[in-house]
Amino acid sequence: MTEQPGAVACSVCAAPRDAESPVQALMWVREDERGRVRWLCPRCARTHVRDIEAKLPSEYW
Ligand SMILES: [Zn+2]
Repeated sequence: MTEQPGAVACSVCAAPRDAESPVQALMWVREDERGRVRWLCPRCARTHVRDIEAKLPSEYW
């Protein structure tokens, strides 16, 4: 699956990943939900970490 470079924003707070520092950008979490890719910024990912862990396929660990 091909990602869309430059078109990534947090699915929770809508923060653009491009605005993050390179280090912060690496901490973003990618979720696949029925073929639709969602991204979570580090702040929202931390808030929703339990939900993510429950759904995330093991290949992403
Ligand atoms: Zn966010």
